[in-house]
Amino acid sequence: MPWQLVPDWNPDRCIVVFPEECFSNGVRSMPEVVSQRFDAVVIGAGPAGTVAATVLARSGRRTLLAERSTFPRTKVCGGCLAPAGIASLRDAGLGDALDSIDPLPLDALHLHARRATASYPIKQYLSIERGRMDQAFVEAATDAGATFISECRARVGVDDSVSLEYAGRQECHRPDLVVVADGLSGSSLAERDDFGWDIDQTSPMGLGAILRDPPPGTTSDGITMRCGVEGYVGSSRLSDGRWVVAAALSPEAIRNHGVQGAVHSVLRETGVDGKCAPSTRWKAVGHLTRRRMRRAAGRVLLVGDAAGYVEPLTGEGMSWGICRAADVLPYAEAIGRGDDVSAQWSSAAERMLRSRRVICRTVCGMARRPRLLEFGLRLSSRLPFTGWASQQLCWSHS
Ligand SMILES: Cc1cc2nc3c(=O)[nH]c(=O)nc-3n(C[C@H](O)[C@H](O)[C@H](O)COP(=O)(O)OP(=O)(O)OC[C@H]3O[C@@H](n4cnc5c(N)ncnc54)[C@H](O)[C@@H]3O)c2cc1C
Repeated sequence: MPWQLVPDWNPDRCIVVFPEECFSNGVRSMPEVVSQRFDAVVIGAGPAGTVAATVLARSGRRTLLAERSTFPRTKVCGGCLAPAGIASLRDAGLGDALDSIDPLPLDALHLHARRATASYPIKQYLSIERGRMDQAFVEAATDAGATFISECRARVGVDDSVSLEYAGRQECHRPDLVVVADGLSGSSLAERDDFGWDIDQTSPMGLGAILRDPPPGTTSDGITMRCGVEGYVGSSRLSDGRWVVAAALSPEAIRNHGVQGAVHSVLRETGVDGKCAPSTRWKAVGHLTRRRMRRAAGRVLLVGDAAGYVEPLTGEGMSWGICRAADVLPYAEAIGRGDDVSAQWSSAAERMLRSRRVICRTVCGMARRPRLLEFGLRLSSRLPFTGWASQQLCWSHS
C-alpha cells in the first residue's frame, strides 16, 4: 500500500488511515494519509454528544461525531425530559429538532410506595422516545456541519489522540478538542487510567423496554413511579401510543428473581397484581451510581453520563448532559489558546449539578425505604407543600 503526503500535511493534525491490509500478518506498513482534519472529535451520539457536536460545528469548527452503535438505536431511558434540558436545547438551536419528534407533554408525577399514592403537578416535562430523539439530534448536528460516523468505535490515547475503528479501517486523529460523551457503558477511555470509574457496586442496575400496551398500574396522564424495597419502576406514554418503562433494581433482586420477577415484585409491593408481557424485551445497563476520578484533562472534556451519574428516579440525566454540552464553547476556545481548563470544567460541572444531585440522592434514599416514603407521601398529600415538593422535583433552571 503506497502512502501519500498531502501538501499541507502536519503530522500533529491530520488523520492517518491504516487500511486493513496494513495489519495483515501483524505487520503494519506505511499508512495512507488523508487530508481531512477535525478541530473537534465528539465521542458518543446520545443527547450530550449530539448537543456538543451541534454547538461546536455551528461555531465553525470542523467536528466529527463518532458513534459505536448502528443508528437509530434504542437506549435504556425513561424518556422524561426536564424543563432545564428543554430550555438548554432551545438555546442551543435544537428546538426544531426536538419539536420534530412530537414530544408529549407530561403534567403529573404519580408516586406510589406500598399502599400510598401522591400525585404532584409537574410543569413542562416532555415524554420522548430516545431512538427518535437521538437520531433527530444527529441530523441537527450534521445540518450544522458536523461529520457523523456510526458503527465507529473510538478510543482516546494517553496523548489525547483519538483512534477510530470503522468499516474495516483504523484512523488516528489529533484534534484540538476531544469531547467524551460515551455514557455509562462507554469504552473510549479504556486506555486512560487517569479517568477511571469509582462505581458503587451496591447501586441499582438500569433496565428499560418499550411496550405496545400500558404496563400494569400505569396512569395515562403523566409519569407513574412505583417504589419498593427492590428498586423502582417508572412508566409514561409516548406520542405514538406506545409506552416506555424503565426501572432501577437492586443487583440481588435481579440475581434472585430475574428481571421480570424483580419488576413484578416492585409492582406487587405497591398493590399491582398484573405483569409485563413475558415477551417484553428488557435492555440493561450496569451499576448506575458512579463517579469519574476526573472530568477533564489536557484537550479532553467529559460530558453527560461519561462524567458521572447518580440514579434515574428524579429524571434529569439527559438534562445534565445537555446543559453541560451546551456550555462547551468557551472551554473549546480556551483549549484552542493552549489553556488548561480541566479545573474550571470540573468545578463548573460541580456547581451546575450539585444541588440536583443532592435532591436525587435524597429522593433515591427515601425510595429505598418504602415505609418512610409511604409516610412521606401520605403526609404530603394532606399538607399544602405539594406545590413546593413538585417544584423541587422539576429541574427548571440550569
Ligand atoms: C433506567 C433508566 C431510566 C432513565 N430515565 C431517564 C429519564 O426519564 N429522564 C432523563 O433525563 N434521564 C433518564 N435516564 C438517564 C439518561 O438515559 C442518561 O443520563 C442519558 O442517556 C445520558 O446521555 P449521554 O449522552 O451522556 O450518554 P448516552 O445516551 O448513553 O450515549 C452514549 C453514546 O456513546 C456511544 N459510545 C459508547 N462507547 C463508545 C465508543 N467507544 N465510541 C463511540 N461511541 C461510543 C454509545 O453507543 C451511546 O450511543 C435514565 C437512565 C436509566 C438507566
